[in-house]
Amino acid sequence: QSGSLQDSAEPVSLNSEIESLDRILGDTLFSLEDRQLELRLARNATQIAGHASAVRQVVINLVRNAVEALPESGGKVTIGTSAPVWQNHRTWVELEISDTGPGIPEAVGKQLFSPVKTTKGEGHSGLGLSIVKQLVDDMEGIIACRTGADGTTFRILFPAASDNK
Ligand code: ADP
Ligand code: MG
Repeated sequence: QSGSLQDSAEPVSLNSEIESLDRILGDTLFSLEDRQLELRLARNATQIAGHASAVRQVVINLVRNAVEALPESGGKVTIGTSAPVWQNHRTWVELEISDTGPGIPEAVGKQLFSPVKTTKGEGHSGLGLSIVKQLVDDMEGIIACRTGADGTTFRILFPAASDNK
């Protein structure tokens, strides 16, 4: 895979990127009192092999979707990271972004990661998740989604940086 982002990957701390985004996300997306943002960051090192700007873009897109899914009446978005785990011959660091919204509309369904028709109004491109998927793929990560009436969780496994091992 020449020319992929992974060729020039550098160690990026997931926790640090999330912490540095916290204030921006808090101010711009959580202006309504009844919407909460909770961080559950692993105590361990969460160094991944990737790109800081790509990681930030992934987090921002997923958190924005999560907030947009919350009803006016309130709700919660959680950003969590987990200590590195060894699985399938590789060490991974997990990022989870979940919300207490109503779940992904069935019409979006399996097309989730392709450029879809947005179910939102003007100013929404329907491209966010396809960009997220592309960035995660470029960093050789894995993304999965679980959704239902209680909310939605996106779980991403990023390859850990070698100095975590
Ligand atoms: P956009 O946000 O511009 O509509 P996205 O690619 O980010 O495009 O998301 C595509 C569609 O997937 C959204 O229009 C929405 O219907 C659905 N979606 C994405 N994230 C969530 C979520 N956390 N909860 C509910 N629906 C979601
Ligand atoms: Mg979006």
